Amino acid sequence: MSGELLLSSSIEECRFLRGRELSALRIAGVMSVRDLLMMLPRRYEDRRMFARFSGYATDAPMCMRAKVIDLGWKGFGGRGSRKRYIEAVMEDANSMGGVRFSCVWFGMPMIAKMLCAGMEVVLYGKLKYFGKRLCMTHPDFEVIKEGEGNSIHLNRIVPVYSLRGGIAGRRLREIIYMALHELSPEPEPEVYEFVPDVPFKSALKELHFPETKEGREKTFRRFALEECFAQQLNVAYRRRCADLRMGLQSAKESLLVQDLVKSLPFELTDAQKRCVREIYRDMKSTRSMNRLLQGDVGSGKTLVALCAMLLAVENGYSAVMMAPTQILAEQHYEKFRQMLAVLDVPVALITGEKKEESHLGFGNEARIIVGTHALLYGDKIPENLGLVVIDEQHKFGVNQRERLIARNPRPDVLVMTATPIPRTLTLSFYGDLDVSIIDSVPVGRGKVITAIRSEKERNKVVDFVRAQLEEGRQIYIVSALIDGEESVKAKSAQKELAEWQKLLPFIDIGLLHGRMSAEQKDSVMRDFRDNRISVLVSTTVVEVGVDVPNATVMIINNAERFGLSQLHQLRGRIGRGVHQSYCILMTDAQKGEEGYEKLGIVEKTDNGFELAEYDLKMRGPGDVLGTSQSGHKEIRFNEWLMDARLIHRGRELAEAILREDPALSSRKYRPLRFLLEDGTGPVTS
Ligand code: ADP
Ligand code: MG
Repeated sequence: MSGELLLSSSIEECRFLRGRELSALRIAGVMSVRDLLMMLPRRYEDRRMFARFSGYATDAPMCMRAKVIDLGWKGFGGRGSRKRYIEAVMEDANSMGGVRFSCVWFGMPMIAKMLCAGMEVVLYGKLKYFGKRLCMTHPDFEVIKEGEGNSIHLNRIVPVYSLRGGIAGRRLREIIYMALHELSPEPEPEVYEFVPDVPFKSALKELHFPETKEGREKTFRRFALEECFAQQLNVAYRRRCADLRMGLQSAKESLLVQDLVKSLPFELTDAQKRCVREIYRDMKSTRSMNRLLQGDVGSGKTLVALCAMLLAVENGYSAVMMAPTQILAEQHYEKFRQMLAVLDVPVALITGEKKEESHLGFGNEARIIVGTHALLYGDKIPENLGLVVIDEQHKFGVNQRERLIARNPRPDVLVMTATPIPRTLTLSFYGDLDVSIIDSVPVGRGKVITAIRSEKERNKVVDFVRAQLEEGRQIYIVSALIDGEESVKAKSAQKELAEWQKLLPFIDIGLLHGRMSAEQKDSVMRDFRDNRISVLVSTTVVEVGVDVPNATVMIINNAERFGLSQLHQLRGRIGRGVHQSYCILMTDAQKGEEGYEKLGIVEKTDNGFELAEYDLKMRGPGDVLGTSQSGHKEIRFNEWLMDARLIHRGRELAEAILREDPALSSRKYRPLRFLLEDGTGPVTS
């Protein structure tokens, strides 16, 4: 039996799988033994030694072994009443003299079917006071079968998996155990042994069934390094591809830019000037530019990009800017049109809905083109493309970016982001890009006043909103739900809308949520921008860079549920005009609680980088980078992504290999080609 499966074997070859399980796994995207074994435990339970009933409330969850003595419905009301709950009286198996305590579950009637008196269970949860009694509320539990002494499930550090496609965590543990048992110990040719002294297969075993806590941590670090290496291999490979292609040169000084700067009612900030210089240095060289422009919301990235585009135009090229939404593209187009009118540079707008051109002056083809994803399709882009600018780049995948760039000669590329990215993440995700940072916002810009308010103070908040509306200002209201289905979020926003319509009966209020079509969303945003709507109730879809200078108040409900970066992004929607702006963080969290403290940080600092670093520590990179990292592989071992040393090691490993075998064509390195994300094929030099 043992030793027949390969990592590449299909799960059909796992004879221990039942038919129903096979289809459940397939639906969950698990096709090969490798996929199966890369399903990570949610957590581990140390079942070598169970905790005793502590007699006081515990902050950390504990793992106990107990016997069910009694089980039944408690509380008031009939079936389905919210005040009813299930209570199980447990006897601690690990305390002398039959110490008893209760477990309670609210709103989980299925528990009554899963447990009954006499059963032995492993419990995992916190002890909390429920009234005067110390109880475990909603513990995770697992029923132990009779005679189950030294099994997969006991007397070891046990992996706990999430339910997958209807397969219970306990059964998954058995499945993975058996798969590991039947895995061939032989090395496989298509597996690159990344750390020879800890081969992949033995590391997998340790990952699922670790012998010790230290061993598990070491294994995690090994996989983290591997993941990081894969990332860096991509980065180094992309960089190589870019370097090998012939770049364009925009050597001529830009008179247009000088004219533009003269015509502006303000001065460029020092940070903007520095970034323009850095960009020009790249553009004027023969190497092609590959640069990330980072800057907080409102720091003036668009203008810096326009300066870059004008340099390309002056040198006889055209320039393209791609934005993630219709309304953003329109906004850029309008701004450019106004600013470029004095310079006689024609601009075009290309989106799914519209194609417009500002016919100015010489009536020839537009040299500056702004658009949405629509730019990627058809043949709308002129031959002599010299510069590609991508706004809010995290909304696009790597492949989409490549689609615009993949032409010969390669245009210069500037990608922009308003999400401040901590240094370690820049290194790991954008290591192929040079980075320019606009680290200050234009002076004279009124600071946004941020304040935390409790639900009890809602009346005062409503009065404040009324006063601002009377002065002619506009208001954003972000509804509470951030997790959950789009449909649930939409419902929560609709409820919020209904409440505000009651509070402000004579005011036009708009609604924006993710279930609406792109056209509907754009039309609502347009109404808000043009002040046909005074209040906009929305989910977090309002996040991306729309500029409505007259909006001065942002109310964020249940603010404690949001990430700091996200709060900061939302707050960036206001404070864009001459009026004082206010961000009100509504919360039920109390002073001293974690959520409240977090909000205190947002209240005090308006430095996006600081907030992002904090977020990265608290919530991991997914939150900081935004969810749409399409084109990037899923990150599983994220706690290590904050480790600059580890990232450097991954990078060194990747670069050493590419130096030795740039096309990854040798037998030894060929397996690594599966790690490449863009499928561009081998580099030919
Ligand atoms: P973001 O970096 O968020 O994309 P924008 O480019 O939209 O910011 O700029 C925000 C606003 O600030 C715009 O209205 C822009 O015209 C203005 N702005 C840009 N640079 C300056 C400056 N140096 N001084 C004053 N206002 C500026
Ligand atoms: Mg912007």
